[in-house]
Amino acid sequence: MAYIQFLGAAGTVTGSKHLVNTSSDGAGGGFQMLIDCGLFQGAKDWRERNWQPTPVPAREIDAVILTHAHLDHCGWIPRLVREGFHGPIYATPSTIDLCGIILPDSGHLQEEDANFYNRHNKSKHHPALPLYTLAEAEASLKYFSPVDFEETRQLSPEVSFRFARAAHILGSSMVELTLNVDGHSRRLLFTGDIGRVRIDNSAPGKVVRSGPTEGETADVLVMESTYGNRQHPTDDPRPKLAEIIRQTVQSGGSVIVPAFAVERTQKFIFVLKDLMESGQLPSIPVYCDSPMAIKAVEVFLKHKEECTDETCRLIKQYGSPLQWPGFTFASTSEESKKINATNFPSIIVSSSGMVTGGRILHHLMQRLPDPKNTVIFIGFQAPGTRGFTIKSGAPEVRIFGETVPIRAQIATLEQFSDHADTPELLEWLHTFPSKPAVTYLVHGEPSASSQLRDAITKDLGWNVQVAEWMEKVTV
Ligand SMILES: [Zn+2]
Repeated sequence: MAYIQFLGAAGTVTGSKHLVNTSSDGAGGGFQMLIDCGLFQGAKDWRERNWQPTPVPAREIDAVILTHAHLDHCGWIPRLVREGFHGPIYATPSTIDLCGIILPDSGHLQEEDANFYNRHNKSKHHPALPLYTLAEAEASLKYFSPVDFEETRQLSPEVSFRFARAAHILGSSMVELTLNVDGHSRRLLFTGDIGRVRIDNSAPGKVVRSGPTEGETADVLVMESTYGNRQHPTDDPRPKLAEIIRQTVQSGGSVIVPAFAVERTQKFIFVLKDLMESGQLPSIPVYCDSPMAIKAVEVFLKHKEECTDETCRLIKQYGSPLQWPGFTFASTSEESKKINATNFPSIIVSSSGMVTGGRILHHLMQRLPDPKNTVIFIGFQAPGTRGFTIKSGAPEVRIFGETVPIRAQIATLEQFSDHADTPELLEWLHTFPSKPAVTYLVHGEPSASSQLRDAITKDLGWNVQVAEWMEKVTV
């Protein structure tokens, strides 16, 4: 009998990593693969698990199948390669293009963090080492192998898979794995992150087409539960966004938006552009302070077939965001420092989205102490991250080893989420023609996962369990 072992995103929302082994004892010459290979982020006791080796030797893992390019799903790949993995990493073509931006940036940040700790003597490790380097991240890219949506790929006589659409970010997919072991056929469906199920005014600015593939079947479903206990607001956030920005500008302040450089930044600037063109916002300077955001715009323009009609219309009407007047994309750190020096009202969109690193730290360090400024959160903030601390109303936050007082206004617009909420997840599950034998919930804080388990059991009568970290289940 084959088994799944949950190596990450079990009990938390980061570190997605599920080992599937077609041999029950792990030593019988079975085919071993990882579905996702993500980085733990957030609370320290989770991050420390990034330093632990895989429970089976990395060199014995035959393949990685990647759902999408977010770091919490792909960010451990260079470390896996460093530990001896040398098999193929399957992903959709657009996911591969995005990983080509995201992984080297992550390697660069790992090196910067280690250097910072060494310079300031702040680590208990001497010297502090990066989890992996920029060069190692770049070297890991050669293992990627493209697989299109809906194409069936045979990996061994007993294993095949296909990518279904997850509608979460560009390239995002679910992995349907078919195992033929000991005369039994089993279909496993790993959802990765699930995007918004519907598209309407309460979920504006969606760049990638909405709607995960419907009518899936699975014997075993492994599903995310990030918003397992929450419903997104159902009103259109654009009027409120425009009002917050106008008020901040009137009082002479700037708006700072922590956003993932990939997808969220593009989505947000499309909304800003539309608000300005329709006269709902004054034309004030917008700075996208992320070298990754520039490269990501180019990847989006290359993969327009995945974009919504609305996004295609905006691109057709206004051209590439990189050419929009009033929108500045900062690629060098000198350009970034110039933004720091500006003292007129502006909108600064910078990463990382959960304020765990990157240039947003400099902007917040400078702007958080001033009540004229506003920080707008447009994405999920995992507990333990600086983003979570700031969003939850703390009076101060630690940045670069210093205590920074939080006097700026703090606002949250959950509608920009790229995750389905509880009603949407249930709506998607209702499209299954038959119930899976078992559903394991992953990728959620414990309360979100357990509440979603209860909701699915009540609504559909399915057998649902919350996966635990390192738990092994036979399939
Ligand atoms: Zn994601």
